[in-house]
Amino acid sequence: MLFAIQLSALVVVMPGLFPLLFVSGFITLHVLVEELVRRLDEYSEREFRDGRLSTPLYALTPSLLTVPQYPDSRNVLEPNCTRCPHLAETRECISWGTGPLDSPVLVVGEAPGSGAPEADLWKGGNWTGMAYTARHSGRVIRDLMESVGYHDAYYTNAVKCFPPDVPASEASGSSSEPGSDGGKVSNREPTDEELATCRTHLVTEVEEVEPDAIVPTGKHATETLLTLDEKSLDGFTDHVLTPIDCEALSTPLLPVLHPSYQNIWIARLGYESEEYRERLREELDGLCAGG
Ligand code: SF4
Repeated sequence: MLFAIQLSALVVVMPGLFPLLFVSGFITLHVLVEELVRRLDEYSEREFRDGRLSTPLYALTPSLLTVPQYPDSRNVLEPNCTRCPHLAETRECISWGTGPLDSPVLVVGEAPGSGAPEADLWKGGNWTGMAYTARHSGRVIRDLMESVGYHDAYYTNAVKCFPPDVPASEASGSSSEPGSDGGKVSNREPTDEELATCRTHLVTEVEEVEPDAIVPTGKHATETLLTLDEKSLDGFTDHVLTPIDCEALSTPLLPVLHPSYQNIWIARLGYESEEYRERLREELDGLCAGG
């Protein structure tokens, strides 16, 4: 008797549960497929770099992966700038800013990496001449900004030429040390002198774009902007996604994690990936609405 009652109750309730089961099943499947694709993507990238695979997955199936919009213009401020002679000697290209000059958001990185000249598309600013066009930094930060509704952000770097950690005479040679983006020469942090010299270009860009918010990616990009106010940071991670006034530029800064460390540090800061994006969206929407 009890069994018959339970069965009848199930028959009555089941039709209502079907949509719920369908939706939760779909979401679970979507998350699993996304994770699988991400792992395959990383694996194929590693194999490609090590020469065991002729083409990485992202080049074969870009529609399966998150491929943010690739820039097609560059904001050249001083062609063949040689204000830093040693960087002019070792760079391949000056990595100029990219994006609309009326963008509400200006994203600032530290400096271009050595890049990956063998890559099909995301070779990096040192080879493309456009900021944030490397696979491991450009794709990640562009994907983040697009996912929160800012597909039209302007991207640039505090220092626009690749700072190698070896002398110019060796940089064009056959060093096998991989760079941050898969190139042949690793890069170092820019010096204070290089940051100060190139800061005039950065200020020019901010004056041209007049963004509502500046998004420095990582500690060093944030610090170089705060230098304009003669301020410094103690504990960068405490300031992530927290607006900071920058009087010299009359524009608030909204620091985000450096794309190379984004995935690790999102969790360390106590966010789920979606929560981090949501907070970024809220803060940017607030700053841009206020602008
Ligand atoms: S880093 Fe900036 S200032 Fe120095 S040479 Fe390159 S573009 Fe010119």
